Amino acid sequence: MAQSPKDLRIAILGAGMGGLTCALALAKEGFKHIEVYEYASDLGFVGAGIQMAPNMARVLDRLGVWAGIEREAVDIKETSVRVGATNGELAHVDLNYIRKTYGYPHMVGHRSSLANGLYNGCLNESAIKFHFSTNAQKVNKFGPQPSFTAVPRDGSPSCEVQADIILAADGIKSQARVEMLQRLGVDATVKDTHQAAYRIMIHKDQIKDDPELLKLINGSRVTRWIGEKRHLIAYPVSNNTIYNISTTQPDKNFAAATNATYTTRGSKSAMLDTFSDFCPMVLRMLDYVPEGEVCEWKLRVHEPLPTWIHQSVALVGDACHPTLPHMNQGAAQAIEDGAVIAVALSRLPDTKPESINKALRVYEKVRMQRAYTLVEMAAANGRAMHLGEGAAKEERDRQFAALRQGKGPVPDKWADADVQREIYGFDCTKVAEESFDDLFNQM
Ligand SMILES: Cc1cc2nc3c(=O)[nH]c(=O)nc-3n(C[C@H](O)[C@H](O)[C@H](O)COP(=O)(O)OP(=O)(O)OC[C@H]3O[C@@H](n4cnc5c(N)ncnc54)[C@H](O)[C@@H]3O)c2cc1C
Repeated sequence: MAQSPKDLRIAILGAGMGGLTCALALAKEGFKHIEVYEYASDLGFVGAGIQMAPNMARVLDRLGVWAGIEREAVDIKETSVRVGATNGELAHVDLNYIRKTYGYPHMVGHRSSLANGLYNGCLNESAIKFHFSTNAQKVNKFGPQPSFTAVPRDGSPSCEVQADIILAADGIKSQARVEMLQRLGVDATVKDTHQAAYRIMIHKDQIKDDPELLKLINGSRVTRWIGEKRHLIAYPVSNNTIYNISTTQPDKNFAAATNATYTTRGSKSAMLDTFSDFCPMVLRMLDYVPEGEVCEWKLRVHEPLPTWIHQSVALVGDACHPTLPHMNQGAAQAIEDGAVIAVALSRLPDTKPESINKALRVYEKVRMQRAYTLVEMAAANGRAMHLGEGAAKEERDRQFAALRQGKGPVPDKWADADVQREIYGFDCTKVAEESFDDLFNQM
């Protein structure tokens, strides 16, 4: 048994944003034995952009990796919400106040830039060891000294890995989540959102003769075009060299698919059909994407779980609070999880399994309500942006009209100053540090 908490062996399943942040934050707290098991052979993230809100940047800055990520990102100064069919502007919001108010800007970047920033931070820590191409197949024991079966994908023999703590950051399809909830007798079904997303990128040289789109790629604006049951959100990434477009539309292509299917190569003509009643500029934009570079994602979420912890195992990120992307907070919340887990475990008074379980439950206490509030907010924002004709849409559009006169909230909630105060103003690390003793003693 480990003599000191910092000697505890921590196994992290999954090297997504949640797993990488857990590893780095724990190493920064002085933990010496952190092993990360990742199914993929490398961090080959799909070509897609990501919004990086101030609450994410604050954590990354404390971990020493924000400066490098920020260098390649685009500082968002404004957002515009438009009618998909006409390109008419419903709202324009100046976001320059964000950096001044929260100490960090709202930035957008390439996923690989964010992931590699975290990964390179981990590589600088001798306490962290990576095992790529390894399937963390089954959690066999949840505690004390939990264990799982690691199956190398190159055909080498599988082995049983024992640790003192397992952090399951294995994403929305988390096998550890299913096993944990089975043990607890909780229904672990995935909720169908009936929504899917196309994610595409256009390179600047593809649109060099299109002044309207060049203006968008050279700008510092997030634009959302909305229509019934559909929208597109787009912004420049990678130092304004790529225009990133993410859509949401009713799920047709995955509806009959098995639960294992989450992404597929999308059909360009099906994508163009889906948005055929949107304005010519949007269609032109979509048409620049080369055939074969359309990726479609099924958007899935879970019902909120009653717990994320069983004995010495904790769920992290999308494994326990997957979200629709309509508030741009999924990765930010996985990153907040990592920061809070590190604070909670770093304050362990001893290495007893009971103490480990209590510290993990402090993590859950600090994180669960906030994460699920944001999950619900994202679903609600999607519903509001996707309204069809009727009284609710009239009321929403009345709010957009009032906003154009300088009054009232922003109906697209991620851009509303009061909502941002709740999300960006929350310093998860500080809250965990300040509340740890009280919460731990109450457990
Ligand atoms: C269309 C779309 C747009 C989005 N936009 C934003 C945005 O702008 N801002 C934002 O903050 N968030 C956004 N998100 C959400 C964000 O992408 C996710 O919430 C975030 O990536 C979750 O991170 P994670 O580490 O929990 O899970 P994942 O990123 O899914 O990582 C899980 C990792 O575990 C590995 N794994 C799985 N099973 C095993 C196993 N058995 N053994 C070993 N390894 C395993 C996987 O290979 C993967 O690397 C968006 C999501 C979507 C779908």
